[in-house]
Amino acid sequence: MKNVILGSTGISTLKNALGCLPLQRDSTEDAVKLIRRAYEAGWTFFDTARFYTDSEEKLGLAFEGIREKVFIATKTMCKTPEEFWNQLNTSLTNLKTDYVDLYQFHNPAFCPKPGDGSGLYEAMLEAKAQGKIRHIGITNHRLNVAQEAIESGLYETLQFPFCYLSTEKELNLVKQCREKNMGFIAMKALSGGLITNAAAAYAYINQFDNVLPIWGIQRMSELEEFISFQKKEPEYSGEIKQLVEKDRQELCGSFCRGCGYCMPCPQKIEINNCARMSLMLRRAPSASWLNEEWQKKMSLITTCIHCNKCSSHCPYGLDTPKLLQENYIDYQEVLAGRRSVS
Ligand code: SF4
Ligand code: SF4
Repeated sequence: MKNVILGSTGISTLKNALGCLPLQRDSTEDAVKLIRRAYEAGWTFFDTARFYTDSEEKLGLAFEGIREKVFIATKTMCKTPEEFWNQLNTSLTNLKTDYVDLYQFHNPAFCPKPGDGSGLYEAMLEAKAQGKIRHIGITNHRLNVAQEAIESGLYETLQFPFCYLSTEKELNLVKQCREKNMGFIAMKALSGGLITNAAAAYAYINQFDNVLPIWGIQRMSELEEFISFQKKEPEYSGEIKQLVEKDRQELCGSFCRGCGYCMPCPQKIEINNCARMSLMLRRAPSASWLNEEWQKKMSLITTCIHCNKCSSHCPYGLDTPKLLQENYIDYQEVLAGRRSVS
């Protein structure tokens, strides 16, 4: 298996990296075991966020004694310099370290720049000067912010959703990052659960030598599957290519990619999952989507005020309120046992 170099950061790491959002759902003991197993298998890049509750603490525990051997990327959703410092210092404490390798603005609505009045980029520079962070990155779900970040020359990495369902627009971001010597970190490489064939997801991304996928893994069995690719890499050909083509056809057109560009919703509807619930129920184990928590989230669809804020922001031109309604009806039918998910 190849290494990926993250642009001008010079960070060189195995093509398999760990996205640590799902670790929030593991017990501390299981999370630490999983992180250590990944490390023992050669994984050295771990991406977390201040926003992912106790994920940073779990990483901090797992990295005792090996801090210098791994790269830690975390993120801040700060809106002010004061929040920036609070969040950075909390992350450092949780991670039991005095520096992070890559510090990223976490999905900001605009691209922070020096002199824009927010003081955020200046705080990044100061943190770098103090040695608390080594490299500055940005994550986003919006094409326009990602584009601006690339053009600004201010960021060493871009983290953006990227998988075999991505369009020419995302491919273009990957290409531009290569041209600008900027690292590209692929989030949602399993499209938030829509892609269930890990080998196909891996084989597709493996075609792009400047792309580092951070696999959102919760269970040891999922981790072992990705580790197995290190011995035998799945190739983007034959059956895998056919499966990708089939998925693209099946999912083309009016399906929600879960990108979240349309959020937040004034009614707090979790659009990026609720608008594709029918797919999730049928493409992933359905039980977890039918629990009480999700029933409550789905019931919020009935409070939609049809402001159309979501559809006006959807880059795929979806009629989001209509899609939500369709998914709600299907969900109720499945719950009542009148429709099957198989
Ligand atoms: S149309 Fe409905 S779902 Fe969309 S943003 Fe408005 S309230 Fe939320
Ligand atoms: S409705 Fe559109 S913008 Fe919203 S999550 Fe789905 S694909 Fe993204």
